[in-house]
Amino acid sequence: MEEWTVEVHHSKTKKNKPKTDQLEFGRLFTDHMFIMDYSEPVGWHDPRIVPYEPLTIDPSAMTFHYGQSVFEGLKAYYTPEGDIQLFRPDKNLQRLNRSNDRLCIPPIDEAFVLDAIKQLVFLDREWIPTSDGTSLYIRPFIISTEPFIGVAPSHQYKLIVILSPVGAYYKEGINPVKIAVENQYVRAVKGGTGEAKTGGNYAASLKAQELCAQKGFTQVLWLDGVEKKYIEEVGSMNVFFKVNGEVITPELNGSILEGVTRNSVIQLLKHWDIPVIEKKISLDELHEAYVNGTLEEAFGTGTAAVISPIGQLSWDDKDLFINGGKTGKVAKSLYETLTGIQYGREHDPFGWVEKVNETSAVK
Ligand SMILES: *Cc1c(COP(=O)(O)O)cnc(C)c1O
Repeated sequence: MEEWTVEVHHSKTKKNKPKTDQLEFGRLFTDHMFIMDYSEPVGWHDPRIVPYEPLTIDPSAMTFHYGQSVFEGLKAYYTPEGDIQLFRPDKNLQRLNRSNDRLCIPPIDEAFVLDAIKQLVFLDREWIPTSDGTSLYIRPFIISTEPFIGVAPSHQYKLIVILSPVGAYYKEGINPVKIAVENQYVRAVKGGTGEAKTGGNYAASLKAQELCAQKGFTQVLWLDGVEKKYIEEVGSMNVFFKVNGEVITPELNGSILEGVTRNSVIQLLKHWDIPVIEKKISLDELHEAYVNGTLEEAFGTGTAAVISPIGQLSWDDKDLFINGGKTGKVAKSLYETLTGIQYGREHDPFGWVEKVNETSAVK
């Protein structure tokens, strides 16, 4: 696929850029987007950057009916020196292909798509906000476009990448949230699609989220779909606990989404010689740790918030107030180091960041 080049059609007009203090998550999009088509027998073809605009898609396109689609989420950051960088983008593209495999979507050329993303980010670089904690969110996704309402894998697809400037997740400092343990609905089960980043998992999560919000909670803690005994994830984040000096996180079991942030947190903790263990964690043992006074911290991890401390965890008649409702030391260090590396304020000993510049854009 080396002979591929991305054709660029520049937008004739430039949209007004938002003020950085008014940025919300995911409501505004930049001037351009990347598109590539798949059809048989050609495969993926016609990679192009075009002005951001609505698509024309047949109402019978398969994606509208049976949810054969996948997506990714990563960010571009400005460093204090004015460099643009991405955080472990290769991990997102590998995961996109794992999701593709689960959803019977043909694989993409990871290196080529990463190049295309860099080219798009560089072209729309004026949209990367520069104030503290802001970034440009990158959303690659694939939809099945064959006009056919039979249940089968599509023979046609579109890979699209759109960009959205996003504000600081923590405007008034990193704040612990209230979480409700969900013991009615489940997000995913082993053998299902929980490991894949696919829209259906999110559709399945909305009801529980809506109900917990009505009760004043920020998110739900998901339990396993079979016994509803073991902890899986928190909202759309992976989850960690610090118990008696040890950091624990649910082991990947076929229904948990493997986060890039989760992987980075595990590597950082090992680098700091803090014991970190991936294992099955039951709600009962967590409660026991709380009663014994050894549950020291709890936090979620994901690209959007990076680290989201949990100050309260509630279910049935139980309310666990973790670390006095304050952000724990480990959560705080992880947040500072990860964002430090992402924004280029701190040395990156792992080779996690990748620069986006003129050369990465030229093919
Ligand atoms: C995307 C996602 C995560 C977090 O993944 P990151 O790569 O760290 O952003 C965790 N859980 C679910 C269900 C997700 O969709």
